This record gives sequence, C-alpha cells and structure tokens, in this order.
Amino acid sequence: MHRCVSFAVASVLASTLLVAGASTAQGAAFPVDPGPRVDGRPITGSGQNLPPIADETYNVGPYMAPQVEAYYTGKAIQQDRADVALAAWRWVRDWVRANCGSTPEAVRACRATVVFDVDETLLNSYSYSLAQDPQFTFNPTTWNEYVAACDYSGISQTRDLYNRLIKLGVYVALVSAGSKDNKPFMVKCLNEHGIAAWDRYIMRGEKGENLSDGEWKATQRKELERKGHRIVASVGDQVSDMSFGHLMHGFLLPNTMYYLH
Ligand SMILES: [Mg+2]
Repeated sequence: MHRCVSFAVASVLASTLLVAGASTAQGAAFPVDPGPRVDGRPITGSGQNLPPIADETYNVGPYMAPQVEAYYTGKAIQQDRADVALAAWRWVRDWVRANCGSTPEAVRACRATVVFDVDETLLNSYSYSLAQDPQFTFNPTTWNEYVAACDYSGISQTRDLYNRLIKLGVYVALVSAGSKDNKPFMVKCLNEHGIAAWDRYIMRGEKGENLSDGEWKATQRKELERKGHRIVASVGDQVSDMSFGHLMHGFLLPNTMYYLH
C-alpha cells in the first residue's frame, strides 16, 4: 500500500491548494522551497503540489474534485510535466558533462545515478482516484486491483526523460514506497509503458515500517551512495521523494490528488 486511507482535509485545502511558489503562476519549472526537510537541496518544480498540512499522508478528497479534474484533463499539467522533465534533463546532462565526460562509458564509470519514483512520476493513476467513491480517496483493495490490472496511463514526458538518461549512460534506480507484493505487476506495467532497463527497483516491504515514506526513501538513497552511486537527481511527485538529503537536486512533478508524508 503506498498511501493511507483518506484523511479528510479538503476544507482546509480550499484556500491553500498548492505548495510554495504557486501564487506566482509561471510557464516554466522554477525553484520551490518546501521547507527544512529538504535539507538544503535545491528543488525545481511547477508549484502544483499539495501542501504539508500535518505530518500525515492524505488524499485531497471529493470536495476539490472539479478543480483536480480540470487540471488533470487540461493542458496545464502536460506543460508542467514537460517543464520539470526538461529542467531535470538539462541539470543531469550538464552535471555529467562537467564531472564524468561525454561518452556513455565515462558517465557509467563515474556512477552518475538518477533516482525515479514510480506513481505519478512514471505512471499516472489519475483514473484510479477519479473512479473512487468518494472521489480522490484511497482504498487498499481497489488499489491492489488497479495495480494488478495495470490500469495506469503513461506519462510521456518522464518516460522520454528516463530513456534519454539511460542513453546518456546514467544508472537509473526506481525507489517506490509501493508494496513489494505488487512488484511483478508493476514490472510488467512499467514495461508496457516503455519503462525498462533500470539498474535497481526498490519497493517497500516490512522493513522500516515505522519510517515515513520520506525517511524510508532517504535510507534507500543512502544505501545506493554507500555502494558508490552519485545521486545527481531524484525525480518524483512528492517532496518526500527528495527529503533528508542523499541527492544533489530534486525535480518535483505535479500531484494535486494526494500528499505522501
Ligand atoms: Mg509518486
């Protein structure tokens, strides 16, 4: 299970839907500052994320459904994803050119690594949240059915980023708080959406059950570093995909459906 059963918060969100930076609508990805847990690492995003209203995972719930639907079915989210993916590409390309060299072999040899989250980063589960009753809530049973059926849609912007990075020679690690029990389904589904050839795919099991998603993901990146990986970027849709260090730069894709602590 990758997120808790809904925690009703929609009324709190009506006036504060988006994380820092949203008040200045911009056409491109820009620096966002979600606060101290990012441990001083720069984060580039679109501003289209839910705020941390408590130390809790939550789903936006049905009251914001019209706004969330308008964003997910409109052009803005496509542009936001493209802007963040482009910013990530430029950052990683420039870093490896400056620090590793220009051939895939050289990039590989210097162990440049990019960490990707999966849900709402490489695969889009909007159709899941939309179909729940009430809308934009979470239920572990319907979630597991959704995953097993691979009802996700793809996210072309990050799929293209992912494949360009592999061609560049970087190591790619998928780090997902999704349950290990679903891994066979997820592998098949990612492959069906043009995502393959990763070096590592780490999912959450029973170990570290007391950690938040953000803490658990940081321990996984730390472990990658211990094995010699240099984590040039972490690409995700949650601040918890890029909190507590062990990365150089975070790239935050939009998600106005749920917040993972
Ligand atoms: Mg995610």
